Amino acid sequence: MRTDRHDAHRRWAASALAALSIAAVACAPRQERTPAAASEVPTSGWIDATATLDPATTPVYEGDAPMKFDFLKDMRKGDGLTLSVLSLGAHSGTHVDAPMHFVSGGASVDRVPLEPLIGPARVIDIADGVQAIDAAELERHEWRGAPRVLFRTRSSLRGWMASPTFHRDFAYIAPDAAQLLADAGVQLVGIDYISAEQFGAPEPRAHRILLGKGIPIVEGLALADVRAGEYDLIVLPIKVGGHEGAPARAVVRRRAP
Ligand SMILES: [Zn+2]
Repeated sequence: MRTDRHDAHRRWAASALAALSIAAVACAPRQERTPAAASEVPTSGWIDATATLDPATTPVYEGDAPMKFDFLKDMRKGDGLTLSVLSLGAHSGTHVDAPMHFVSGGASVDRVPLEPLIGPARVIDIADGVQAIDAAELERHEWRGAPRVLFRTRSSLRGWMASPTFHRDFAYIAPDAAQLLADAGVQLVGIDYISAEQFGAPEPRAHRILLGKGIPIVEGLALADVRAGEYDLIVLPIKVGGHEGAPARAVVRRRAP
């Protein structure tokens, strides 16, 4: 027990130090945050990889339901309380696609097991010029052995998950890459724009391949501040009973090398 307490204290001291270092970096003038300094940022902290849901800044997929948030009561306007109503598509912002989205009889989002949604994940950088993440592109990266794969694409480089303009030319997972990922036993696939499928694709083949194997897809991740590498991932969709997808909170934490 003594050793346990000692270890616990050491861990606490380490995390307190890490928090202090983060505070120090956060307080440093912006121009001093060079890439070299950034690499010294302690790796213990969780990073929010969730796009903020806000009709002013969240892109909505072409043809999808508009996002509408209203205050029914508002203390800033003299009401006794603040109370709001949210109206939005199930695939708004950072969200999880459940098998039911494209697989008949597939699990709804409330029945997606927790295991794929929590655990180690690899963030892979896809160059700005690449729109199709096909098998050839995938094989240019070290993805094998990763239990979960998150693609950081032109969307993060261009700030698209924080812009209300919908872009059709987002980077997407091509069916042959989806097949490789599914065959390799990857448990979860994520991408940083609101769909993983090519805009205008005649068939949602990448979705069908992944969801057909019960692999949840996270779309709309906010990865602008997340560099390529190994992370712990937690992505938990709102537990909406019997529906095919739901907004989620996604956080990542750099794994120690
Ligand atoms: Zn979706």
